[in-house]
Amino acid sequence: MQAEILSIGTELLLGEIVDTNAQYISSRLRDIGVNVYRRITVGDNPERLLAAFEDSLGRADLVIATGGLGPTDDDVTAQCLAKALGRCLRFDQDAWDSIRQSYIRRGRTVDENNQAARKQAQVIDGGFFIPNPVGTAPGQGVKVDGKLVLLLPGPPSEMQAMFENHVVPLITKSFSGLTPIYCVNLNIAGLGESQVGEALADLLRSSNPTVAPYAGSGQVRLRIAAQSADKSRALAMISQVEREVRRRLGHHVYGKDDETLEMAIGKLLSTRGLSLAVAESVTGGLICHRITGVPGSSRYFKMGMVAYHPEVKIASLGIPPEVVYREQAVNPELASGMAESVRLLAGATLGLATTGFAGPDGGTESEPVGTVYIGLSHKKAGNMTERVVFSGSRHRIKLLAAQRALYLLYRFLTEDSKNRR
Ligand code: AMP
Ligand code: MG
Repeated sequence: MQAEILSIGTELLLGEIVDTNAQYISSRLRDIGVNVYRRITVGDNPERLLAAFEDSLGRADLVIATGGLGPTDDDVTAQCLAKALGRCLRFDQDAWDSIRQSYIRRGRTVDENNQAARKQAQVIDGGFFIPNPVGTAPGQGVKVDGKLVLLLPGPPSEMQAMFENHVVPLITKSFSGLTPIYCVNLNIAGLGESQVGEALADLLRSSNPTVAPYAGSGQVRLRIAAQSADKSRALAMISQVEREVRRRLGHHVYGKDDETLEMAIGKLLSTRGLSLAVAESVTGGLICHRITGVPGSSRYFKMGMVAYHPEVKIASLGIPPEVVYREQAVNPELASGMAESVRLLAGATLGLATTGFAGPDGGTESEPVGTVYIGLSHKKAGNMTERVVFSGSRHRIKLLAAQRALYLLYRFLTEDSKNRR
């Protein structure tokens, strides 16, 4: 059983939008045990689209296409599939009723003779329509010689709703013996992909569950995936590997699936009754944004400030002018001073601060663009700083600096818990 995904739209080929539909469908098909062999992107061109359908139908058991189901003339997906199958399109009353309903949901009506709208109610002879609970364009599907072809609209929110509500049940019903894949992602900070690879070399070679690292900005995600018809058996296989990974990587594993570093920090701060204040320069508010993105952060987050201009560092944080105006404008005393001052200002247990050169201009020979100092101040443990040098665009340096600062805070909180009160 093999599947192909067809992404349709000239805007995809021009690089104007990213093909998130194919990524979504791939990952959901993987979950239900369907192997995707190919992903093909075609523009809104009838000849090439017809050829793409013919090719895919010649190879795959399941073909899922997205895009080109709209009312305009450049939306030709259904026509091309009909031609590839040697069938005609016929007006489908159920599809039309569902289109009418979608207009009513949005407080509008559609004229019975609206030809553009009626075009979307054309379903391939012998096929079936797939309702769209979010937008107007219905999807459709057809079964031919044991193969299943599905057409879904391009807008991701519509496609996803239809995929979950209709496509997943349809596939599992149409193809017996699919073995689903279950997976867990572990989020890892403070180690690079190669360090993770080294520490887990033997696990990365295993085949069920499979273990694979993916590098992200300033973190690594480790996917543990097990395939079994028996869900509890698959989950047991996963948790056995998860325990071993956690044993080897310790507190570098800060979370699972959608758990972020700021969530892990939030848990540590609130269970210990600690509070935090942040003074940001180079990260321009990114750290505060992430901290306050966690529900309940008001329990432990006292204040944040973007102390950007040198005068503000002096006036609002009381940093001595000779530290701010030193030749090395970015320096460890500045970072630790900012962290300590904001901590005292807020009456918090912990202060976190960043200062650095995000570029593209600036920097010095000894402190090039990308140099960032992170300051951490704790009311008993005192002040500490870390110097890191990142590379890349201004945006990337800011993101990496925020991630690193949060990681340092997380590490401080996990390293020696008895001193962290
Ligand atoms: P269409 O169904 O072709 O009219 O597509 C409508 C809109 O959906 C496009 O303008 C895109 O914004 C979006 N879209 C279409 N295909 C994709 C895709 N493969 N991935 C993400 N968005 C898409
Ligand atoms: Mg289109």
